[in-house]
Amino acid sequence: MSDDNICPKCGSPLADPTETQSGRKLQRCSTGSWNPQTKKNEGCDYIKWLQVEPKILDESCPKCGAPLVLAITRFGKKMKKCSTSSWDAVAKKAIGCDFIEWINGTTEPLDEICPKCGSKLVLYTTANGKKMKKCSTSGWDKEKKVATGCPHVEWLPTNYSKSTTDGEEFLPPEE
Ligand SMILES: [Zn+2]
Ligand SMILES: [Zn+2]
Ligand SMILES: [Zn+2]
Repeated sequence: MSDDNICPKCGSPLADPTETQSGRKLQRCSTGSWNPQTKKNEGCDYIKWLQVEPKILDESCPKCGAPLVLAITRFGKKMKKCSTSSWDAVAKKAIGCDFIEWINGTTEPLDEICPKCGSKLVLYTTANGKKMKKCSTSGWDKEKKVATGCPHVEWLPTNYSKSTTDGEEFLPPEE
């Protein structure tokens, strides 16, 4: 076992890497654990954030034609960006192609009827993993910046899906 797998706080081995709901990877100290009841870490609270390898997508950049990659920010937001872009740590500026497209969430059709207007509902998952049921006739007018269509929205608890929260929102910030 390399030093990489030893907790610098207490010397215990680190646990296996786990993935958070938003796709970030971390390794906890094996003596520490997350208590969902108290929403506190128990035992050693050391957490090592792992670099998430950007996933190369089967899409090309509309600006320069290079492949796009899927990147996840430290706040768990997802975006597509050009694989030729990178960060110049010395000059403190981005270099390469500057194409970025934020991924704003996904919609899935539901077999449920809107109580307000009788249209179908859709399940909407926001970019940071929150879920709501909303009316399929609803939309957003980008020019006027107003919601259009039926306003019915029903927010779902974050643990709506089978996966349970691992307390990601309570973790210390990434270094
Ligand atoms: Zn430790
Ligand atoms: Zn590009
Ligand atoms: Zn409706």
